[in-house]
Amino acid sequence: MNALREALQNAATPVEVFFRDDDAGWEDARLLELIARFAEHGLPVDLAVIPNELHEPLAAKLIDTHAGLHQHGFAHTNHQLEGRKCEFGPARDKSAQRADIADGRTRLQHLLGDRLEPFFTPPWNRCTHATAETLVELGFALLSREHKVEPFGLLSELPVHLDVARLAPDELDERFARHVEHGGPVGVMFHHGVMEPEDMARASALLELLATHPNVKAKTMRELCP
Ligand SMILES: [Zn+2]
Repeated sequence: MNALREALQNAATPVEVFFRDDDAGWEDARLLELIARFAEHGLPVDLAVIPNELHEPLAAKLIDTHAGLHQHGFAHTNHQLEGRKCEFGPARDKSAQRADIADGRTRLQHLLGDRLEPFFTPPWNRCTHATAETLVELGFALLSREHKVEPFGLLSELPVHLDVARLAPDELDERFARHVEHGGPVGVMFHHGVMEPEDMARASALLELLATHPNVKAKTMRELCP
């Protein structure tokens, strides 16, 4: 993490960073371990929770953690027959999307109560204009996707920039440093479900650096929601 450490050292002002872990509902043991790592370092984490995969025992455990909780699609199902995977892609019209988003929210409200935040992360970080329109109609306050796409301009967006679970360590270091140089907020994405023990150890080292560096301001998604 030398490039990142150097970029932080050179930052004129502290850089805001937030952490989004996706796919809560899958691989519960790994999920709870990752949340514990954040807690050990005193860092916030926001979980994107798959409504159709959340069950009561896990919901009870998540409510007991410090994690922020928001909606991750409905069932994490790919509906595209070709091209890149999407649950909320062009293959489905607005009414089909709306039914899923509303059902998912009802389910999460039932299981998470007032811990549920009105934020939406689409699976695979991709959705359409119709999705954004639907989110506005249903009263969502924030959409979180990939930073490379143009914002829809319909509701606030808080994109992620880095995928800790999928980038090689050197690439993560370099890319993280570049985003720090551009100023924040930098969105750091995790996928606990694919993180092997060595990935967890590396993530912990990253969290240690971020938790202790004076030029990092760790924020929740709620704090960054305008
Ligand atoms: Zn996902």
